[in-house]
Amino acid sequence: MGAQKSKPGRAAKAAGATVANSYSRYKIATLGSHSALQILHGAKQEGFSTIAICERGRERPYQSYKVADEIILVDKFRDTVKLQQRLLKENAVLIPHGTFFEAFDLEEFEKLKVPYFGNKGILKWEADRMLQREWLKRAGLILPKIYEKPEAIDGQVIVKFYGARGGKGFFLARSAGEFYRKIKDRRTKEDVRAYIIQEYIIGAPIYIHYFYSPLTNELEVMSFDKRYESNVDSIGRIAAKDQLDLGLETSYNITGNVPLVVRESLLPEIFRMGEAVVKASKTLDGDGKGIHGPFSLETVITPDLKFFVFEISARIVAGTNLYVEGSPYTELRYGEPMSTGRRIAREIKDAIRQNKLSKILD
Ligand code: ATP
Repeated sequence: MGAQKSKPGRAAKAAGATVANSYSRYKIATLGSHSALQILHGAKQEGFSTIAICERGRERPYQSYKVADEIILVDKFRDTVKLQQRLLKENAVLIPHGTFFEAFDLEEFEKLKVPYFGNKGILKWEADRMLQREWLKRAGLILPKIYEKPEAIDGQVIVKFYGARGGKGFFLARSAGEFYRKIKDRRTKEDVRAYIIQEYIIGAPIYIHYFYSPLTNELEVMSFDKRYESNVDSIGRIAAKDQLDLGLETSYNITGNVPLVVRESLLPEIFRMGEAVVKASKTLDGDGKGIHGPFSLETVITPDLKFFVFEISARIVAGTNLYVEGSPYTELRYGEPMSTGRRIAREIKDAIRQNKLSKILD
C-alpha cells in the first residue's frame, strides 16, 4: 500500500473558499471505480478533502481528473479492511457504490467500522432478489412475474443469475425446453442453482435516479438514464437474417449509459413510486430507519405507460455519472451543478451543521 498526493484541481480551488468550517475535518473516501470520479468531485465542490482507494495499476483516472487529494493504493479492494485504523484517524466517511458489494461479502462489509453513508440494515433487502421483491411489493409497485419452475414458463422470460452483475450471462427463453437447452451451455452446476426466471417485459427501459433526505424528509428525482448493453443494443445493426445465420443469443452486459429525459406527464407517477419505496423501506427492519441517500428503480415502461420495476439499487448507480454538471432536473431544483455525488456531500455537510450525522451515517 502507498499514498500519493495530487495537485489541487478546479473543484479544489473552488472549495478553497471553505476554510475552518466544522465539516472541513471530515474526509470523503471511496473505492476508485464505478462512480468514484463523480462522488469525489462532488465532495470537493462541497469543500471536503477526498481519498480515493485504488487498486494498484488502476489509479490513473483519479490522478488525471484531479478528484482525489489523497490516493491510497491497495493490491485488492478487499484490503480496505486493513486501512480501517488509518481511515478512522483521518475522519473519513465511506461512500458506497456498486464496487463495494463486489469486493466484500455482506457480513464483512457490515462489520467495517469506518463511518458509512447509508443504512447498512437495508443492504440484505437489496442483495437477495426475493427480499427485494418483498420490499417492492410492499411499496405496491408493478413487478414482472416470477416463474417458480421452468415447466411453468408460458411466455417470454429472462433468466437471471445471482451475482451476475451488469446482466452478464442472462438469457431469454420461451419454453421449458428452450430453458433447459440454453442453461446447459451456460454455467457450472454450482451456479445453475442460483437463478430466477422472470417475465420479460417488452417496452422502454428507464432507470430512475432518486435521492431521499431524512433531514428534509423529501424525495428528489435527480435524473434518468438508459443503458448501453452488449450485445442487445447493437443487434439491430445487422439484418434479422444475419442474426439467425450467426445463431446470436441476446446478452445484457453493461458497457455504458445514455442520458434521458422522460415525458413530463410521467413525472407524478415517478415521484409516487419513489415515495412508496421509501415508505415501505421503513417497515423492513425494526428500527424504522429505512433507505436514505441515492437509490434507483430499474423499470420498463410498456406501451400503455405502466412501469414494471425489475430491480432496485439501494445506492448511487453508475447512470448518474452522466450528470457531473447536474441534470435538467437538478438544474430546475438547485440552479447550480448538482450531481448525485455532490448531493451526497451536501447531505453530509447539512447533517454536520445540524448535528444530525447519526441520522445518515452507519
Ligand atoms: P445491475 O445489478 O448492474 O443493475 P443486473 O445484473 O442485476 O444488473 P438487471 O439490471 O436485472 O441486471 O438486468 C440487465 C438488463 O436486462 C436490463 O438493463 C434490462 O435491459 C434487461 N432486463 C432485466 N429484466 C428485464 C425484464 N423483466 N424485462 C425486460 N428487460 C429486462
